[in-house]
Amino acid sequence: MTKGRWLLVVLIAVLVAAYFVFDLGQYFSLGYLKSQQAAIDAYYGSNPLQTVAAFFLVYVAVTGLSLPGATIMTLAAGAIFGLLWGTIIVSFASSIGATLSFLASRFVLKDSVQAKFGDKLRAINAGIEKDGAFYLFTLRLVPAFPFFVINLVMGLTPIRIPTFYWISQLGMLAGTIVYVNAGTEIAKIDRLSGILSPTLLASFTLLGLFPLIAKKVLELVKARKVYARFRRPRRFDCNVIVIGAGSAGLVSSYIAAAVKAKVTLIEMHRMGGDCLNTGCVPSKALIRSAKFLSHVKRAAEFGMREARADYEFADVMERVQRVIGEVEPHDSAERYTGLGVECIQGEAKILSPWEVRVNGNVLTTRAIVIAAGARPFVPPIAGIEQAGYFTSDTVWNLRRLPARLVVLGGGPIGCELTQAFARFGSTVTQVEMLPRIMIREDPEISEMVLARFRAEGVDVKLEHKARQFLVENGEKILVCEHEGREIRIAFDAVLVAVGRVANTAGYGLEELGIPVTKQRTVETNDFLQTIYPNIYACGDVAGPYQFTHTASHQAWYAAVNALFGGLRKFRADYSVIPWATFTEPEVARVGLNETEAREKNIAYEVTTYGIDDLDRAIADSEAHGLVKVLTVPGKDKILGVTIVGEHAGDLIAEYIMAMRHGIGLNKVLGTIHIYPTMAEANKYVAGNWKRAHAPQGLLKWVERYHAWMRG
Ligand SMILES: Cc1cc2nc3c(=O)[nH]c(=O)nc-3n(C[C@H](O)[C@H](O)[C@H](O)COP(=O)(O)OP(=O)(O)OC[C@H]3O[C@@H](n4cnc5c(N)ncnc54)[C@H](O)[C@@H]3O)c2cc1C
Repeated sequence: MTKGRWLLVVLIAVLVAAYFVFDLGQYFSLGYLKSQQAAIDAYYGSNPLQTVAAFFLVYVAVTGLSLPGATIMTLAAGAIFGLLWGTIIVSFASSIGATLSFLASRFVLKDSVQAKFGDKLRAINAGIEKDGAFYLFTLRLVPAFPFFVINLVMGLTPIRIPTFYWISQLGMLAGTIVYVNAGTEIAKIDRLSGILSPTLLASFTLLGLFPLIAKKVLELVKARKVYARFRRPRRFDCNVIVIGAGSAGLVSSYIAAAVKAKVTLIEMHRMGGDCLNTGCVPSKALIRSAKFLSHVKRAAEFGMREARADYEFADVMERVQRVIGEVEPHDSAERYTGLGVECIQGEAKILSPWEVRVNGNVLTTRAIVIAAGARPFVPPIAGIEQAGYFTSDTVWNLRRLPARLVVLGGGPIGCELTQAFARFGSTVTQVEMLPRIMIREDPEISEMVLARFRAEGVDVKLEHKARQFLVENGEKILVCEHEGREIRIAFDAVLVAVGRVANTAGYGLEELGIPVTKQRTVETNDFLQTIYPNIYACGDVAGPYQFTHTASHQAWYAAVNALFGGLRKFRADYSVIPWATFTEPEVARVGLNETEAREKNIAYEVTTYGIDDLDRAIADSEAHGLVKVLTVPGKDKILGVTIVGEHAGDLIAEYIMAMRHGIGLNKVLGTIHIYPTMAEANKYVAGNWKRAHAPQGLLKWVERYHAWMRG
C-alpha cells in the first residue's frame, strides 16, 4: 500500500476510535435527542446558519466514517428543520457522506482487491459497468442492505463516481423523507424499529426492484419484437443448424451431437474450412519443408561437411496436399455423420430466425449457429486486378516457384509465408506500411523476427505503402510510397496478406437485419447471440480473434447456449487467449505484452530469460530467443507471457495453463522440468523473477547467522 493510502487508513482508524473511546454514541440516541430538543430548537432559532452548517458537517462525518448515528440524525433533521429543509439537508449530507466513504474504499482497497480477485470479479465488473446504476438504485431503496456496506462495496467496483452520487441521492430519497417526516413528530416515537411499517418496507422493496424488473421486461419485449415479422413454426426439423464446417462449425455440431441434439451441418465448399484446406494445415506443412531446407543450408553448424537438397517446388506443394489429405478424415462428412451430425453439402441461406434453405429445401430449426468464417481481404490498390495476385486461398495452387515474390503484409500469415518462400529460393520482398512487422507483438520481438528474415535474405520494406500495380514491358511492378518518395519493386508474383474479412454477405444476414461491427464481423453479445436470441455466431465470422483454437473455444459456448440457453447461458470467456506465429524464430504469446499493458494502464513488472543460455538450445544449435513474463508488481501473478524461439508455441502451454488456473511463478519454479529440454526456459525465467524478489534484508540476517554458526 502507498504512503497516502496508509495515512488515510490511520486517519479513519483514529477518528473511529475516538468515537468509541469518548463514547460519542450517547449523543446519537433517541433519548438524548428528545432531552435536548428544546435546547437545540432555541440555538437554531438564534443561530440558524451555524446550526445547519454544524448539523450538515456532523452528518457528513458520521456517514463518511460509516459510524452509527445516521438514523437518529435524520430524525433530528425533521425535528429541527421540518420536513422540507430537513429532507434537503439530509439528502445532500447523506449523499456526500456516502460518496466520501465510497471514495475512501476505492482509494484504499479497490486496486488490491481487483488485482487479487480480478479474474473472479470479471463477471461482476461487467455487470456493474452495464447495469451498475440499476443495482445500486435497488440496493438503496431496499432497506435490508446497510448503507455503509453498500458504500464500501461499491467503492471496489468500476461504477463511476457521478453515477454513484446521483443514484445514491435518488435511491435514498424515499427513505429520507419517511424518517425526516417521522422526526417532525419526534415526541410520539418510542423506538426506531417502528418507523418503517411492514407495508412501507414491502413498498420500498417493490419500488427498488421495479427498475430492474422493468429493464428485464423491456429486454424481453425488444427480443420478441425482432421476431414480430416472422411466423414461428409449430414444430422444428432440427434443434440447431450450423452454417459452415470450419473449425467453429465442426466443434459446434460435434457438441450438439454429443448431447444428443438433432444437428444439421451445412458446408458449401470443403469440410474443414480454411484451417484444413487453405490455412493452418497447408501453411504448417509448407513451413516444415522450408525448415528442412534451412537446416540443409546450416549443415556446417551441425558438424556436416556438406549437405544438399535436390527438390522440385511442385513436389513440395504436392506434399502439402498429401498432408491435407491425411488430416482430412478428422473433419470429414463421414466422421461427422458417424458422430450423429447430418452433413449437407450446399450453400445455406437463412430465411427467417427458424428457417434455413439449402439445395432448394427449407429446414426448420430452433436455433442457428453461423460459423461462416472469413476470407482474405484484397485492398483496392490501382492495377491489382490487372497484375494478378495470390492470396492464402489460392497460393496453394502454385506449382512453379516465383523467382521474385512480393508479399504484401507483415502480419502472421504474411510473415510465415514470406520466410517459407524465401527458404525455397524465391527472392522475397515483404512490404509493410507500418514501422514494424508483427505489430501486435512488443518492438524487440518484432525486431528479432526481422533480424532473422534479413539474415536469411528477405528484403523487408517497412513504412512502405503500396500505391499502384503496373505492368511495364511485360514486367510487373509494385509502386510504393516511402518517406514521400516513390519506390518501384519489380516482381513475378504477389501474395496479398493484409488481413481477413468476415463472410457476412449473401446468406441472409442483410435480409434479417443482423448488424455487423466496425471490424465487419457479425455483431454478437457476450453469449454469442445476434439480435435474434436464437441465432448465434462464432469463429472468424464473429471475431474478435481469428484462430482455429478461439473458433473452437467459442463454438462450445455457441452450441451450449443455443441448446440450453433457456435453462442457463454462458458468457464466452476470453480471459486467457494464446496464439503463435510459426516463423523462425517462432513467437508465442498468452495474455498481455508490454505494449498492451501500457495502453491499458496496467501496472506490471518484466522478467526475461534468454534462451541463448539454455543447455538444450545450445545442444540443438538453436540458442536464440527469450521468455518474457509480465507480472503484477511485487507479486508472482502472471499477466502475460511472450516466448520467442524453437517450439515457442509448445513451450507456452505451461504458461497458458498457469494463467488459466491462477498459478503463479513461485509454483512454476517449484515444478520439476526435465533436463535438458526447451521447457526448462519456463522455469528459469521464474528463477530470475525469484532472484529479483529475494528478501535482501532477511538474507543479511541469514548471512550473520551462518557467520555465527561458523564460530
Ligand atoms: C494461411 C493461414 C494460416 C493460418 N494459420 C493458423 C494457425 O497456425 N493457427 C490458428 O489457430 N489459426 C490459423 N489460421 C486461422 C484459421 O484458419 C481460422 O481462424 C479458422 O479456420 C477459422 O475457422 P472458422 O470455422 O471460423 O471459419 P472457416 O474455417 O473459414 O470456415 C467457414 C466455413 O463456412 C463455409 N460457409 C460460408 N458461408 C456458407 C454458407 N452460406 N453456406 C454453407 N457454408 C458456408 C465456408 O465454405 C467455410 O468452409 C490461419 C489462416 C490462414 C489463412
